[in-house]
Amino acid sequence: MGGKVTLVGAGPGDPGLLTLKGRAAIEQAEVVVYDRLVSPAILAMIPAGARRINVGKESSHHLVPQEGINRILLEEALAGHNVVRLKGGDPFVFGRGGEELELLTEHGVDFEEVPGITSAIAAAAYAGIPVTHRDFCSSLHIITGHARAGKELTIDFEALVRAGGTLVFLMGVSAMPKIVAGLLSAGMDGDTPAAMVENGTTPMQRRCVATLATLPDKAAAMGIHSPAVILVGKVCSLSDGFCWVEKRPLHGRTILVTRPKTRAGTLSDKLRALGADVWEYPCIETTPILPCPAMTAALERLGDYEWLVFTSPAGVEAFRDELRRLGKDGRYLAGVKLAAIGTGTARALREMGLAADYVPEIYDAAHLGSGIPAEGKVLILRAEIGSPALTQALDRRTIAYDDIPVYQTVYENPRSEELRAALEEGKVPYATFTSASTVKGFVSSVGADADFSSLTGLCIGEQTAAEARRHGIAVEVAREATIDAVVELACAAASQA
Ligand code: SAH
Repeated sequence: MGGKVTLVGAGPGDPGLLTLKGRAAIEQAEVVVYDRLVSPAILAMIPAGARRINVGKESSHHLVPQEGINRILLEEALAGHNVVRLKGGDPFVFGRGGEELELLTEHGVDFEEVPGITSAIAAAAYAGIPVTHRDFCSSLHIITGHARAGKELTIDFEALVRAGGTLVFLMGVSAMPKIVAGLLSAGMDGDTPAAMVENGTTPMQRRCVATLATLPDKAAAMGIHSPAVILVGKVCSLSDGFCWVEKRPLHGRTILVTRPKTRAGTLSDKLRALGADVWEYPCIETTPILPCPAMTAALERLGDYEWLVFTSPAGVEAFRDELRRLGKDGRYLAGVKLAAIGTGTARALREMGLAADYVPEIYDAAHLGSGIPAEGKVLILRAEIGSPALTQALDRRTIAYDDIPVYQTVYENPRSEELRAALEEGKVPYATFTSASTVKGFVSSVGADADFSSLTGLCIGEQTAAEARRHGIAVEVAREATIDAVVELACAAASQA
């Protein structure tokens, strides 16, 4: 079977602006050829087994020339691969998508094109600028501000001024003063509202709203650089009132999320939706203890226990997998009651079709141990190094228990000099800590002697906070031990800063 090339528009930056069809194409790709400007969150959708070819390494100035890209696409497709060509924004809006298809059609290679959301419209939208508005304009013009090598700009400024529509210039940052001069000398009023939007739709977005005459100075003063769009037209006057992005409670805040990779998703997504610049830094990983003869034996004599106690989703998952290995299902648990430390763990049980009989009012180990309405024996399936607060509370009440480690917490220790430097430069004002072990993993990764003075740890509960304080990290503690309460805490901390 022959290969195929799908040109996919990745959108302007915010990974949420990728289309469903674009995502499906990426998930089925065998080879992905991508540019810089494509967000890491979208690159993360590429299947593990697929080959990635970066043709836009700007930093090393080793850009693959256009003919080279065309050839790569052709060769990969002729080799029978399902190729996705991933491009920023829309492939056909100053994206050379057409050029890339020419060689493919010459060779009769199958292709498809999945349009993307262009920065020309989306960067404006995220800056509160509707590119058209009935009161202000009746056309929209998207213009390149890039001159071909060694050539002057070939823009017909008179025609643009005469048309009176909204103007959007892409690739125009370095030519911006010339573009402004061109419009002014073609007779456009210097008071015409104008704007630039840098890194539009990303957490680093900045906007510069001015008039045509003042734009060059204002943009220079702000140090606006590429990628940015230039917008000219009355619609730009709406920006201050409509800039919804900047009104989000975590707009522009950098927050380090230290959860294990498999569990970071929800917290990161919630923070991002509120505007945060989330840095995912999974410094711990949980791995089930396999085989786990102690758990196997305990489950075989489950009738000895009145309660089965879980203190984390990872514990529930290790238990679920063991139950499956034993060839049993939920019916086997009919005689035993289930306790969960908090809502996340209760949800993990729910996903197995099980309802927790007991969740303490305050979601921590001490309250679980003191509050569980147990009379008979308790089976605890949890981390290798679990909090002693749980067993101490049971001891005090002389309740018998078996405390069986079913998973280990592994500190992923990438020894991050980069993060260490960012901390030193005060670039990381917040980190979320959702367990004491995330604090330990974080500290062991950046080094206990790192500079934590500009960091505030947003902690899920008291035990986690105590661990952070031990390392000299300033803390704020969530109202209750839930992910939503950590998000709330982040908003509260950001509003005070
Ligand atoms: N095909 C792309 C445009 C590629 S040309 C699209 O449809 O968006 C590259 C230019 O796009 C940059 O010079 C800049 O002007 C603009 N651009 C791309 N991403 C941008 C972003 N996130 N914010 C502002 N401008 C962006």
